[in-house]
Amino acid sequence: MTPIPALVPEHSTSLVAIAAVLCLAGAWAASRFFQRMTDVGDRQRYAWLFLTSLASGVSIWGTHFVAMLGYHPGVPMSVEWLATALSLLIAVLGSAVGFLIGGAADVSRARVALGGTVVGLAVSSMHYVGMSGLRMQGTMSWNEPLIVLSVVFAVGFASAALLYGRSDLRHAQTLMWLLFTTSVLALHFTGMAAMSVAHDMSDMAGTRRSLDPETQYVLAVAIAGMAFVTLGSGMVGYLIDNNSRASAVERLRRLAMYDVLTGLPNRASLNERLAAEIERSREHHQRLGLVVIDIDNFKEVNDLHGHPVGDEVLRVLGSRMAELIRGDDEFVARIGGDEFIALCRLEDDAHLPTFLDALRQVLSGVIHVRGARIAPRASIGAATFPDHASDAETLVNNADLAMYRAKSDPLHDICLYDASVDEQTRQRRGLTADLREALARGELFLHYQVQTAVATGETRGYEALLRWRHPELGLVSPAEFIPLAEESGLIAPIGEWVLRTACAEAARWVPPHRVSVNVSAVQLAEAGLARTVREVLEESGLPAHRLELEMTETAVFTDRESALQTLLEIKDLGVGIALDDFGVGYSSLDALRTFPFDRIKIDRSFFSGGGTPEQTVELVQAVLSLGRTFGMSVLAEGIETDDQLALLTDTGCDEAQGYLFGRPASLDDIVSSGQLGMAAV
Ligand code: C2E
Ligand code: MG
Ligand code: MG
Repeated sequence: MTPIPALVPEHSTSLVAIAAVLCLAGAWAASRFFQRMTDVGDRQRYAWLFLTSLASGVSIWGTHFVAMLGYHPGVPMSVEWLATALSLLIAVLGSAVGFLIGGAADVSRARVALGGTVVGLAVSSMHYVGMSGLRMQGTMSWNEPLIVLSVVFAVGFASAALLYGRSDLRHAQTLMWLLFTTSVLALHFTGMAAMSVAHDMSDMAGTRRSLDPETQYVLAVAIAGMAFVTLGSGMVGYLIDNNSRASAVERLRRLAMYDVLTGLPNRASLNERLAAEIERSREHHQRLGLVVIDIDNFKEVNDLHGHPVGDEVLRVLGSRMAELIRGDDEFVARIGGDEFIALCRLEDDAHLPTFLDALRQVLSGVIHVRGARIAPRASIGAATFPDHASDAETLVNNADLAMYRAKSDPLHDICLYDASVDEQTRQRRGLTADLREALARGELFLHYQVQTAVATGETRGYEALLRWRHPELGLVSPAEFIPLAEESGLIAPIGEWVLRTACAEAARWVPPHRVSVNVSAVQLAEAGLARTVREVLEESGLPAHRLELEMTETAVFTDRESALQTLLEIKDLGVGIALDDFGVGYSSLDALRTFPFDRIKIDRSFFSGGGTPEQTVELVQAVLSLGRTFGMSVLAEGIETDDQLALLTDTGCDEAQGYLFGRPASLDDIVSSGQLGMAAV
């Protein structure tokens, strides 16, 4: 028997090169798609899984098949189509399972490695199933250790590829790409090295129809071409997605950093820019100007002409300011409603005034919009770094205080921060901020001051007076904090709390005296006061006739028509109404004639003021006669001495209130002194 000669196989270099390029391209696409798959939501994940498995499977299989066709064992060779098709299926489905396991959201590293193992096994089984379809006129023999090694390579590199692909490393994608390529190529070439063929002319079983080298080449190129087309379409999808992602990111960035109405940078951009400018000013030892701009009476523009006109005014003013801005040295942002902030790198002392002047100029030009003629005006406040502040927040704050001063000053529309003037405003703002918390923190409470019948000395009722114990400042006078509450709108919840508390407490008083509650102008102007009063009465069970609301003339004159309407509704409930502090306001007869007061409270300045006793008597008599004319009872406030009481007795005043009868005190003190009893609830 002649020994069978071993054949030295040769490879077609061009096909091996095509296989390698296909492998690189496929691995690149698969690692990109895989990356995308891991950072999209559930719905898109399966679409990307599909593309990943297709890219991976088709290129693995294509690489194997093209490289195999480039292999010339020196004997006629053919392929079994069933095994070949099966190997393609294994490559695609196996990759799908592996990438599904390794690409799910929030998985452990072990699971990612498991996914990689499955991908590696898919690569290996694809190869050997494919090889099993190879028919040759010769005897194939296999080197088992090399087979094992090839599988170890495939699995090891594929697992590493997935692990790196899901890591946070900077070159994660590139690493995944190269490792995945290595996995496929190492498997293929180690696998091919594991096989040897011995020439055997008698064995014709495997080569029913052998492929001639030319057909083999054409087939390989056709398969590679199809694989590239498949990869290409995946890549096109990927690039389109990339593009729309990039533009979505850009849109989001614009939304996050720019104001939609004016197109100017918004508050977020301002914060970023301001921090950078302060840093820069520090480094260059340069001054930075910060300007707060608030459009005057903007609310009226909206109310009078409608919001579209208001919007247009803001747009015009915004674009005028944007035109004014000079390169990188200046900046303007809209930070809300009708408020803007501008920044300006200051070169010399004259720079800021010039900049402010230019701003005023563009902000005051007449605007014609939708048939309306708007002559805008702005209040402008400025502060400079580092002169007025050493950090961004204080700088904005101080410029804002200056703007606030400009707003309330009829003569100046531009103000520069001035510590000595603006500090008081800051304190008021600080106090307002504290007041905002006071109710929730239980720092507010009520005192009551007795109201007495002058003729008999009997108790008629008590006036509820609000108190605030500030955690640091101690007791703050209502004369100080009520105006703050009114300015800030806090008076609404606070006033309601006073009403609720006073009524609930008074409902338990024995004997059932009247309770007087102060109501501010702001509360009266707001719709719904009458409804609140009705609700509170129902809740507390206090009979309406035992409640009296005290309000000043300013309150009723702020909005006459609606005030009258509200007062009538309240009176309809059976609640009494007193005109507080009579004699300090307009004290107009008109108020008494128009509004349905039950009582006039003469202000305490009548008695503490500089008038002679005779003058006081005359004044009190005048008020008493007014009261009689309009059918209103009269109460004198601030009675501190017996002489004052004697005067009231002589003139026939109905009631009195003052330190002589009792200082405002807590309900506990009043109860424990025996003046009031409390019914159990
Ligand atoms: P008001 O309503 O005129 O209250 C009477 C004020 O005179 C109280 O000052 C009271 O303590 C003070 N007073 C009473 N008798 C005498 C006296 O004999 N001599 C002197 N010198 N003063 C006397 P208070 O408690 O400081 O309240 C000041 C103002 O704050 C009140 O004036 C009222 O306008 C307002 N206020 C107090 N509580 C409330 C409230 O719950 N809501 C509203 N909106 N305003 C309130
Ligand atoms: Mg009062
Ligand atoms: Mg008063």
